[in-house]
Amino acid sequence: MDLTYDTYDFTPHLGWSASRYETFDKCKRMYYYTYYGRHATHVPPYKVRMLKDMTSVPLEIGNIVHDVMEAFLRRLQKDDTNIDEQRFFEYARTQTRHYFSRKTFREIYYRQAPSLDMDAVDSRVQTCLDNFIGSPVYHWLFMKAIRNRENWLIEPGGYGETRLDGMKAYCKMDFLFPVDKHIYILDWKTGRKDAYKHSGQLVGYAAAASASFHIPAHLIFPKIVYLYPAFEELEVSITEQDLKDFLTRVRHQTEDMLSYCEDRDSNVPKEIDSFPLSPSEPLCRNCNFQELCFPEGLDTAKARFG
Ligand code: SF4
Repeated sequence: MDLTYDTYDFTPHLGWSASRYETFDKCKRMYYYTYYGRHATHVPPYKVRMLKDMTSVPLEIGNIVHDVMEAFLRRLQKDDTNIDEQRFFEYARTQTRHYFSRKTFREIYYRQAPSLDMDAVDSRVQTCLDNFIGSPVYHWLFMKAIRNRENWLIEPGGYGETRLDGMKAYCKMDFLFPVDKHIYILDWKTGRKDAYKHSGQLVGYAAAASASFHIPAHLIFPKIVYLYPAFEELEVSITEQDLKDFLTRVRHQTEDMLSYCEDRDSNVPKEIDSFPLSPSEPLCRNCNFQELCFPEGLDTAKARFG
């Protein structure tokens, strides 16, 4: 089984991804600023970029846990002795300080919190790692998956560009590895379970693995591993029909997004006015671009919400 990703020359074409369509579906204006911000003429480019790059506490906890898991797996690939848990947690703490010191947080920028509660952050990261170390997956990696560790794909670089039935798409997997004749795909989650959304995500991983490595659906086992608040797994069994349905969905979603392009081949958007706001208090409070839509502040703007 050859687990080497194809590489692709740059093309300006719109590339589908689950997160791109999710943003498109939530709010067209958020989608515009996220994917076409450099076309905005009423805001300085640096401002859109700064807002887009802003992070949040839950997002950053996810990044830290993913990077610590990546370091753990790379270490396990070279050395299968038990880890020193104390050093593992120290490493996570150091990474946490590093990540949190160099980023702008939405909670602070929009004055949603007076400061970041680093004790709560450390505690949450530690719970995720504790849950992982105590889980069946951890022991299974040591006992079984390790036998073929030279073929592990751990956080493959780049954006996970692939082709799904000829369509440009992005699907980045956390960890993909062979066990016997099967392919397992694990995705770590540090947020709450959303079985419907995450099951769809698993079918997407299977479609990408099937397309990239020419593996039939029944040999692919994608799994979500929830690490917070408690360890839990979500698995789906994949059929060829699931993959076909998924490709149909990607085709429709790509077409939906392309309908907002002035120039579809070059992925140039229509004017910003074609991307309406979808004001909703919970959505806007969690949106990095709220100051562009509501310069008077969300509290003052509340009356404008439907
Ligand atoms: S603040 Fe609200 S309306 Fe504006 S882009 Fe964000 S989600 Fe959309």
